[in-house]
Amino acid sequence: MAPTQFPDYEQAHIARAARGEAVLGFACLARCALVGAFEDPCRALRLSYIGDRFPVVRRLTGGGSLSLDPDTLVAVLALPAGPYATMAPDTLMSALAAPFLAAIRGCGIDAAFTAPNDIVVAGRKVASVFARRDAGVVLFEAVIPLALDVEELLKTLRLPLEKLSEQGLLAARQRFAPLFTLVPDLPSGALCARIAAETAQALGLAPHRESPPLLSETSRAAAEDRPAADVQAFLKTPGGVLYLDVWLDPRALIREARFTGGVACLDGDLLARLQASLVATDVTEAESTLGRALGGVPPDIVGVEAADIVYLGHLCAARFHVGRRLGLAAATQISVFSPDRAASGETLLGAIDAVLLPYCAKPTWCKWRHRDGCPECGQCAVGEAYGLARARNLMVVTITRYEHLRAVLADLRDRGARAFLGVCCTDFFLKRDYAFIEAGVPAVFLDIGGDTCYTLRQEEAAYAGRFEAEAFVDARLLGRLLDWRDRLAAADATTGVAGVEDQSPRPSLGS
Ligand code: SF4
Ligand code: SF4
Repeated sequence: MAPTQFPDYEQAHIARAARGEAVLGFACLARCALVGAFEDPCRALRLSYIGDRFPVVRRLTGGGSLSLDPDTLVAVLALPAGPYATMAPDTLMSALAAPFLAAIRGCGIDAAFTAPNDIVVAGRKVASVFARRDAGVVLFEAVIPLALDVEELLKTLRLPLEKLSEQGLLAARQRFAPLFTLVPDLPSGALCARIAAETAQALGLAPHRESPPLLSETSRAAAEDRPAADVQAFLKTPGGVLYLDVWLDPRALIREARFTGGVACLDGDLLARLQASLVATDVTEAESTLGRALGGVPPDIVGVEAADIVYLGHLCAARFHVGRRLGLAAATQISVFSPDRAASGETLLGAIDAVLLPYCAKPTWCKWRHRDGCPECGQCAVGEAYGLARARNLMVVTITRYEHLRAVLADLRDRGARAFLGVCCTDFFLKRDYAFIEAGVPAVFLDIGGDTCYTLRQEEAAYAGRFEAEAFVDARLLGRLLDWRDRLAAADATTGVAGVEDQSPRPSLGS
């Protein structure tokens, strides 16, 4: 008989739960990258490293991707939904995590559950839990590393460093507490027995205990060979980053839409239904279409609200609007940050009165690389950017390290800056967004090209101002953006109202 693959193992659990049984099984998978049900492997994984080294396996539960090796215990629990069918997603996660937490605590580990889906000890991750519920069945999974090869993990995942605290900037090793580092002689069989006992007590019924399967994984979730989306938008939410990619026909009607992200979406079909609602609609109506599709019902996603999904539709339409001005390819490099989600992209663009540039775009040989300022010697695009900003009397700053960024943002806020143009990589914006949220100054971001410290895994060096590769600022695009800003600002000054040229979609602020 051919060995079972992990998704088949999950499906077998679900099938039995659909017949009214509660089933608990434990598995140790071969080395693999285990991606969440809704993740885009290209965004979540370092596929260039994974290559043919080990398979990429997609599980049925949502949430983030994981780097697994045989020293990771995967507990799979399936049960009739019963009282869990209508529970709020975050309540369900903590309720079903409780027996796993109790089992870990029973091993003498002072662990706690932290939303949305982690079991931690002293802030370090011990386990992650994931859930899905549909067709009257709940599938709940706990992934518990007994030992962990952090080096492999860093090579495998585009690590969600956003979960690091600010004073942290901690080394990745400090984020994890594999069980063998806490209880070196812990027998995994004893842990499984504790989980089974605690689960039986919590559920009030004894789950049928599945024997460990013989698992063999083949690659099931490799990168797709399809053209890049015509318009892409993303939104950081408390439940993770949610992406919306759309492909358009020549009339700007949506041919195909796709939501992805490491979000814990419990309803396995919700994102597919939202995608279907967008097909054949005008991209500029994505926001209202999604609002109607949600119908006022909170989405079954931990940490994501209906307003988030609707706003993502707005961001998609706004990017399309930018694309009509500057070309769709250019639009993918431009994002807006409106702290209260009230301002349109053009309102923010017309209000720019400062430009922030990253040190990493200056040549490594330039003596100004790690200093604020630039004498515009003419040998790099940063000099052109300085010239463009100075010609408009805009404040222009080279950000030299993370603490410098925070100080500059605080200064902008204190001066009453209306908005700034920030040049940085998208990864930085996503993973350090709290610095921008804390300052509360609206922004338009222009993505940099070339090697970034995320692609080169040098995040920590970058935050300290020691990243030694060179990123690329598209000075021509920056110039076109600032020209557009000038026209909007001039129109604003003439009419006294937000730009007559401002026809970009405005967020509805509704859900
Ligand atoms: S233009 Fe400015 S940043 Fe670029 S090389 Fe010259 S001095 Fe350095
Ligand atoms: S995170 Fe790294 S690549 Fe991105 S803007 Fe900062 S220094 Fe540059």
